[in-house]
Amino acid sequence: MSEKEGFGLRVLRYVALGLMAVLVVLGLQWALAGGRQVETAVSSTDVIPSPTPDFSQADISSAVVSSDSFTELPIINDTSLMPVPNPHTYQAKLPQHNFQIYKVKRGDTPNLIAAQFGISPETLLGGNPWLSQESSELQTGSELVILPVDGVLHTVKPGERLEDIAAQYDVPVEDIIAYAPNNLEFPYRLVPETQLLIPGAKIGQFYWTAPKSVAGTGAGGQNWAVVGTGTFIWPVNGRCITNYHWYGHPAIDIAVPEGTPVYASDRGTVTYASWAAGTYYDYGNLIVINHGNGFETFYAHLSSIGVYPGQTVEQGEWIGATGNTGRSSGPHIHFEIRINDYRDDPLFYLSGPTQNCT
Ligand SMILES: [Zn+2]
Repeated sequence: MSEKEGFGLRVLRYVALGLMAVLVVLGLQWALAGGRQVETAVSSTDVIPSPTPDFSQADISSAVVSSDSFTELPIINDTSLMPVPNPHTYQAKLPQHNFQIYKVKRGDTPNLIAAQFGISPETLLGGNPWLSQESSELQTGSELVILPVDGVLHTVKPGERLEDIAAQYDVPVEDIIAYAPNNLEFPYRLVPETQLLIPGAKIGQFYWTAPKSVAGTGAGGQNWAVVGTGTFIWPVNGRCITNYHWYGHPAIDIAVPEGTPVYASDRGTVTYASWAAGTYYDYGNLIVINHGNGFETFYAHLSSIGVYPGQTVEQGEWIGATGNTGRSSGPHIHFEIRINDYRDDPLFYLSGPTQNCT
């Protein structure tokens, strides 16, 4: 019984050896003579060396059949070789962001663009680290990546861990994971060179260089397209003074509800209309008008800006709305009148009664 089985196995082994020999011969012939010879090679299966005198004809024929079918192996077209997602074969997903691109137009400022998309001006830096933080250097025609939420776009470095990134921006790891387009799933494997959005992170703030006060049409001055009347009107319909002009505050603060219209105090040219936090006075959204006669007026803490640098405005023209931006303790407008860089008391120039609200 077992002897017979052993014999059968031996026969099979010989058949297998024979088949391998045939395959080697086939391969050699094919390699030497080119693919054309395959047909004739197949027909020469009878060169199999006869292993034993005893093996049955049936065995050989079945072996030969299987040899033929080997050349016709079916091509597997199903998904059996696709990776099956399971906890033991984790593959990191790549972040899938969808950012808008904005082309800077003439007159744009960081705060105007940011407001348009409901993000903070700093987020423009977060998505465009190449951008100059000097807000007046915003170039018309530049293309800005607009992040959908406030934060910073971070490019993953090799070997970097999620905890490192969270620490770098001082934000909770959970916030980075919770931002769905980052596609982060446990065990949070990061792929170098991919980009993660770090919600709530900041990499900088826009600043500005105060425009130089220019003496008007006189000697050494610049020739302005328009020159002011030399008289000044109140920038808002409100007379409630919460902070008067003194050496620590060379301006007046006028309390008005947020969104109150702001008017040009005199005719002139807008020289600044942008976010201006981070400066000594922390103006928030600021408009500066140069009146071309040595005078400049400053309108700070605005909620919106309706003019752009270079625009000329008439006395009493609407230029924006009051707010509570920058270092501001409540809704008011901070108003300065400068004469050749000296911050004079605006109340010397404005007429009518005022209300003491300090
Ligand atoms: Zn003030």
